[in-house]
Amino acid sequence: METTFIMIKPDGVQRGLVGKIISRFEEKGFILKALKFLQIDRSFASQHYADLAGKPFFDGLIDYVTSGPVVAMVWYGRGAVLTGRKMLGATKPADSNPGTIRGDYAVDVGRNVIHGSDSVESAQKEIALWFPEGIT
Ligand code: ATP
Ligand code: MG
Repeated sequence: METTFIMIKPDGVQRGLVGKIISRFEEKGFILKALKFLQIDRSFASQHYADLAGKPFFDGLIDYVTSGPVVAMVWYGRGAVLTGRKMLGATKPADSNPGTIRGDYAVDVGRNVIHGSDSVESAQKEIALWFPEGIT
């Protein structure tokens, strides 16, 4: 069994998509293990996206994910990391298939509603960063 880290970005929260997104993960059969609602600062966001430091869109990405509160969650179940990524859809909403979260709710790569861990290793790192108190 696996756990993955999923974060509803500020646009997803502001557009009122929290309930719909949580329902998708529940209906798929994943189990919610942890959830928090918080606004992150630039330093924390830079740690979360450390792998992307130096990319031309990095500063804009940090502006975006710190612009309002987010919903940080840990979801548990078989294949949660890869299946979670499939449920999100491609990074660029123009390439995301209908039926995926980004495919259904986003048009702009800079406002793509949701983050999901891209590997089991990233999931472990991200859960440790966002839930340092541990999850039950
Ligand atoms: P995330 O890590 O947020 O789940 P991802 O793994 O699909 O997304 P990454 O390559 O990790 O994609 O990029 C992180 C985020 O940076 C993207 O979700 C998007 O918001 C932003 N981003 C990526 N590429 C671009 C780009 N070319 N222009 C603007 N923003 C981008
Ligand atoms: Mg990523």
